[in-house]
Amino acid sequence: SQSVLEIDNLSVAYPSSQGDVLAVQDISLRLNKGEMVGLVGESGSGKSTLAFAIMRLLKNGAHVAGGQVRVNGMDIYQMDDEQLRRFRWKTIAMVFQSAMNALNPVLTIGEQIVDTITSHESVSHKEAFDRGQELLKMVRIDPLRMRSYPHELSGGMRQRVVIAIALALNPQVLIMDEPTTALDVVVQKTILDQIMELKERLGFSVLFISHDFSLVMEMVSRICVMYAGRLVEIADKNTLITRDHHHPYTQGLMRAVPRLTAEDIEILGIPGNPHDLRNLPAGCAYHPRCEFAKPICRVERPRTIVTPHHVVECHLFDENSEVEHG
Ligand code: SF4
Ligand code: MG
Repeated sequence: SQSVLEIDNLSVAYPSSQGDVLAVQDISLRLNKGEMVGLVGESGSGKSTLAFAIMRLLKNGAHVAGGQVRVNGMDIYQMDDEQLRRFRWKTIAMVFQSAMNALNPVLTIGEQIVDTITSHESVSHKEAFDRGQELLKMVRIDPLRMRSYPHELSGGMRQRVVIAIALALNPQVLIMDEPTTALDVVVQKTILDQIMELKERLGFSVLFISHDFSLVMEMVSRICVMYAGRLVEIADKNTLITRDHHHPYTQGLMRAVPRLTAEDIEILGIPGNPHDLRNLPAGCAYHPRCEFAKPICRVERPRTIVTPHHVVECHLFDENSEVEHG
């Protein structure tokens, strides 16, 4: 199938007192039309930086240090202002964890939706308002809420409004960075079900970013695992479920899922802390936490092993055996 979003060898650096630090290192990733891909990793692994780089919205001196981001074949870092204005919202839209707090408190929901539409398309206020009502219905909010102010809505409703605004210009790609993390579990489930339904109906692609591995497994068809700025594993969900061996960090994330056992709720985490990007260990950055680390892991960064349906960076894998523990 055809790629909507192509990321090639992308690196993003930000300035620090010790010089530039790479928050995203040499990442390559494709998002196909209608596909939902998950991006998982602990906080600080570079997931949000990658999302901002894809939107060309890097802040605070963060900048692309190498590589490319292309949308429908077009390099977004070569776009002029007009192309960029059209590209944001109409081609790619983004929903953040705290987006519901970014709604303007002094404007009604309707005014904010209408503004978004009319600033990108030459349609009448009436048309934009009608479309706004349809968008609210789409996320199961009473269209009368067009006249409400953000504070009159619950957190869950505000986040659904943000999703409705993100879909207002019918984007091809939606980037969702922890879109429901701030909400309680029941509201979260409802919203995620709606996102799945809308994706099926409207056919957009989604890059779904979360620290919650089990949640991502429920949503997506392909999973990318990020550690210390690098994609350490990319696998189809079925491959992840059926094969025994994964990148040790992925295994840790899979175990970190709270499991309901007969007597008890067992929570297994990954020992150790994610590493400070300013001071990454040599070799494989995961080696201080890895239960399978070998001597080579401390000195040599593993190369990227690419086989059908699977990409991994780990010294336990090679192209032939794919895995060799021990
Ligand atoms: Fe562990 Fe070595 Fe693989 Fe890194 S390369 S994840 S340290 S086994
Ligand atoms: Mg983040």
